[in-house]
Amino acid sequence: MLTDYHVHLRPDERAATPERYFTPGNAERYRETAAESGIAELGVAEHVYRFTAALDVWEHPFWREYARDDLDAYCGFVREQTDLRLGIEADFVPGREDRMANLLEGRDWDFVVGSVHFLRDRSLDTEEYSVWGAGESAEKVWRRYFETVAEAARSGLYDVIAHPDLVKVWGRATPLPDGDLRRYYEPAVEAFADAGVAVELSTAGWRKPVGEQYPSLALLEMVVDAGCPIALSSDAHVPEHLGFEYERALELLERVGVGEIAVFERRARRLEPVG
Ligand SMILES: [Zn+2]
Ligand SMILES: [Zn+2]
Repeated sequence: MLTDYHVHLRPDERAATPERYFTPGNAERYRETAAESGIAELGVAEHVYRFTAALDVWEHPFWREYARDDLDAYCGFVREQTDLRLGIEADFVPGREDRMANLLEGRDWDFVVGSVHFLRDRSLDTEEYSVWGAGESAEKVWRRYFETVAEAARSGLYDVIAHPDLVKVWGRATPLPDGDLRRYYEPAVEAFADAGVAVELSTAGWRKPVGEQYPSLALLEMVVDAGCPIALSSDAHVPEHLGFEYERALELLERVGVGEIAVFERRARRLEPVG
C-alpha cells in the first residue's frame, strides 16, 4: 500500500480558483499520475485558509487575503465528483481550538491534517510575515514551534500531524540551534504518543531549501520509538509532485523499522503494509 493524502489540487496562489482546479478533469489528472507511482490511496487536503469559513477561526491578514472559497462546495466536489479521500489541512491556531472544532464538525472528512505554519502572527514558511528577521533567537523559535506542535497534537483536532519539523524549512538561510536537536523534539513526541495521533513523513522537505524530509531522521526515530503510526505524503501542489521521492522515503522507513503506514477512511485509522 502507498498513500498520498496531504495533497493540494492547486498551487498556493490566489489565481488558483476552484473553477480552474476543483474539476473532475483535474482530479483525474491527479489520479492518473498517482497510479503511475503505484499510489492507490489518494486524498486531498486543501488549506483551510482558502475558505471563507476559516475567518470565523482566525482573521490574520494572510488568511483574509486568501479566504475566498466555499468549504461545503469543496467537500461536495470531492465527494460527488471524484473518488479521492476527503481531507483538509487545518492550521492549529492556539486559543481557537473550539472555533476550529466547529469548522471541522459536521463535515465527513476521511482525515484531518494538522499544521503549524504560524507562531502567533508570524509565519514559519512564507517570506511575508516571517518569524525570522526580527532578531528572534533560533533557540526561542524552535522551542516555541515544537511546544505549539505538541499543543496541536493534544488538541485532539487532528488525525495526522503534518511536516512535524517545518521550522527548519529555510535550512541554513535562517538561524539554526546548536547541538543535538532532540531536546526540542521531546515535548512534541510525548504529545504525539499521548494523543495517539499519526505523524506525517513528508517528502516535500526534499523540494525545500532545507533539502531534507520532514521529520529529520532523529525525530523520525523518536516518533517510531514512541509507537506513533506514520502517514506518508508528498504535500504535492501539482500532479507531478505526487509520490515525490517515495523511493527514498521507503528506504528511510525500512531503515527505521517501519513496515506499516496509516490509512484513513471517515476518520477511522488502520495500518497497512507499506510498499
Ligand atoms: Zn503545510
Ligand atoms: Zn500542505
